[in-house]
Parts: sequence; C-alpha cells; structure tokens
Amino acid sequence: MKISFDNTEVAFAYKSDKELKKARFLFSTMAFPWFVKLGTRLTPFIMKTGLPVHGIIRNTIFKQFVGGESLQETAQVADLLSKFGVQIILDYGVEGKQTEEGFDETTEEFLKVVEYASSRNNIPFISIKVSGMARQQLLETLNGAPRLRSGIHDHEEEEREWDMVRERMYAICELAKEKGVGVLVDAEESWMQDPIDRLTMEMMEIFNKDNVVVYNTIQLYRHDRLNFLKLSHSIAQQNGFKLGLKLVRGAYMEKERERAQKMGYPSPIHKNKEAVDNDFNAGVSYCLENINSIGLIVASHNEESHLLAMEAMENLGIKPTHPHIHFSQLYGMSDTITFNLAKSGFQVSKYLPFGPIREVIPYLMRRAQENSSVAGQTGRELGLITQELQRRKFTNN
Ligand SMILES: Cc1cc2nc3c(=O)[nH]c(=O)nc-3n(C[C@H](O)[C@H](O)[C@H](O)COP(=O)(O)OP(=O)(O)OC[C@H]3O[C@@H](n4cnc5c(N)ncnc54)[C@H](O)[C@@H]3O)c2cc1C
Repeated sequence: MKISFDNTEVAFAYKSDKELKKARFLFSTMAFPWFVKLGTRLTPFIMKTGLPVHGIIRNTIFKQFVGGESLQETAQVADLLSKFGVQIILDYGVEGKQTEEGFDETTEEFLKVVEYASSRNNIPFISIKVSGMARQQLLETLNGAPRLRSGIHDHEEEEREWDMVRERMYAICELAKEKGVGVLVDAEESWMQDPIDRLTMEMMEIFNKDNVVVYNTIQLYRHDRLNFLKLSHSIAQQNGFKLGLKLVRGAYMEKERERAQKMGYPSPIHKNKEAVDNDFNAGVSYCLENINSIGLIVASHNEESHLLAMEAMENLGIKPTHPHIHFSQLYGMSDTITFNLAKSGFQVSKYLPFGPIREVIPYLMRRAQENSSVAGQTGRELGLITQELQRRKFTNN
C-alpha cells in the first residue's frame, strides 16, 4: 500500500497547460492575505451593485473550485474526473436562503441532485446543509435548547417550523435510500450545530439499519468532538443502526474564535493545530478500528493524516475497496492526494459544488480564506503546480 503524493504527472493529467497556468496565477494571488481579506469583504458587496465582475469571477476562482452553474455544466467535470477513477460528492452549493419558499426550493434542488447522482456511476454521494433548509435563527434557538426542543415547547410556530425542516430532510434521505445514494450532512458553526447533529442522528436511526445512507460531519478542530464521535457510536450501537461519519478539521476557525471572544465564552476550537491533528488522526483510527459499524469518509488535504490512515488500514487488514472507507478532497485542491489515491485503487472523490455564481459566493470566500490563512496550503499547491509545469516543459508533454 506504499503510496507517494509527489507524482504531479498523475495529479494534473486532467489539466491542460493553460488551465495549470491559470491555477498558478490564482494560488499566487491568494498567497497575499491582505488581498484575500480585501477581496472577501468587497466581493459580496460588488456582486450586489451589479458591476460586471461576473466574468472575472467565473474565469478565475469559480472555475478552480466549482463544477459549473448548472447540473449540465457540472456533468462535464464529473465525466472528466471519472476517466481517472475519481468519484464525486455532488453539492448544490447555494447558501443563505432565509424564507420558507427558499427552503422548499433548495429541497427540490437536493431531490433533483439525488435523482441525477443515481443516474451516474461515479457520484456515490450528495452533500447537504441543514441551514439551506432551515432559518439560521431557528437553528440558533434550538441550539440554545439542547434537551430536544424542550426550550421552545411554548412556541408552536417554531415547533411547526422545525417539523417542516424534518420533513424536508426526511424526503431527501428517503429518496436517497431508494436510489442508492449517500447523503452527507455538512457541519456548520457551533452555535447551530446541535440541532443539526440531532436531526442527522434521527435520520441515521431510520435509514442506516442495513447500510450507511446518511452521514454526519465531525469537525475535529472542536475540542469536544472526539468524545462526541465516540458517544455517537455508542448511541448507534445501542439503537441498532450504522453510523455514517465524515471527518473534517473544520472550516470556520476564525469566525468561531472571533465570536467567542466578542461574546465572552470559551472558544470551542482547540488552542493549536497540533491538538487538532491529534484528534483528527485519533478519530480516523477509532473509526477504522470499528469499520464494520462505521462508514467513514476521511475529508482532508493533509498528507500525513492520509499516510497514517493507510498505515492503520494495512495493520487492521482493511482493503482499499472496503465499502465503509472513502477519501475526499475539495475540487480545486490537493489533486496530488486525490489522483494518486485513485490510481492506487482507493475509493476517493472530489467534493464538487455547483450553482449560480452569485449564490456560491460564501463557499468561494471560504476557499479563498482557507488557501490564504492556513500556513503551508497555498505554498504546497503552488509548489506542486509549478513543479508540474516545469516537468512538462522539460519532457515536452
Ligand atoms: C470533502 C470535504 C468536506 C468538507 N465538509 C466540511 C464541513 O461539512 N464542515 C466544515 O466545517 N468543513 C468541511 N470541510 C472543510 C475542511 O474543514 C477544511 O478543508 C479543512 O479544515 C482543512 O484541513 P485539512 O484536513 O485539509 O488539513 P490541514 O490543511 O492540515 O489543516 C488546516 C485546518 O486545521 C485547523 N487549524 C489550522 N490552524 C489551526 C490553529 N492554529 N488552531 C486550531 N486549528 C487550526 C483548521 O481547521 C484548518 O482548516 C470539508 C472538506 C472536505 C475535503
């Protein structure tokens, strides 16, 4: 199972020289934190003014990180990746709707995405956000009432609203089970995560009796989540269902810390990266040791974590094709991991969002921040792209 993540020829075989040069330009601009800070502040505002920036965004950051504006456009990317044995986690990336009509529309889109995924042979999963189907304030209220809605029993309106969220989620999971597609529920900000966890566990209990259909996401940058992972497992064991888990480090570190500081409560995020890495790797090991009752998706761009996971798989005798183990990276990042894993026979996918440019802006802003604020990530992407361009230059291919 020895595998190297340095093979750039394998990693970028799906990209032309022109595309690689564009990616190099994009990652070099993202290496300037002040530029990204300014861009992430101004872009949502500029989009509202109607200034003609659509084309610029579409040809740069959108193209790098998003599959397309529609399912048809995204299908071309999915087809291309399938030629290299790479699978897809399809994500309707629209965020920020705040009306019941908007939530129903998003649910309809999710249902279409399930139908579409089931018609293709390299889209085993779709990804959903509960905040795409529920008012953020409702999630925050429920988060503050951790005893299963007990805090809002007097508020019939909110109870009805929550029942509608549950119905939306049920409809998606029910169709997904019927069609043989997995549903990955994204983890969000800690101040609305509790109701998301409870709803996802509820869906797992209904739909994960025989195989894993629904997956929760665990953010191991939170210091309470390794315990939560183990608790979720024991609940699943007691109630006779399989646990589906996508493990991530977490995308909202700065926002989480800022809010905690502003509101004067202890930050839920680990104090340093080392502690996050330890919990992430311990979480992966725990899931692998319990692979018969846990369906695991390792969602990361960290090479070390992948090497450790592979070593653990080897020691435990878990084959790369075991139906409960899957790896994933975001589209536009860490191709060296994705494509080299695929070439070595592992089940690996790109998390591929799609949607109208205006609506995927929050996702794009997170990618810009992630590639600017995380020490090493931009440098690593840039180094690998440059290395491949050099290799092509000297070998003439
Ligand atoms: C398929 C997929 C699905 C995803 N789904 C979700 C999701 O549902 N919810 C979500 O929140 N994120 C999600 N992510 C995003 C993910 O959280 C980030 O891409 C990830 O955190 C980047 O870390 P890494 O594992 O790639 O490793 P690395 O690049 O090694 O680690 C970077 C991460 O470490 C943490 N970190 C960095 N510095 C510090 C520090 N000083 N103190 C504490 N922590 C630190 C942060 O989480 C940072 O993002 C998903 C990613 C993938 C690939």
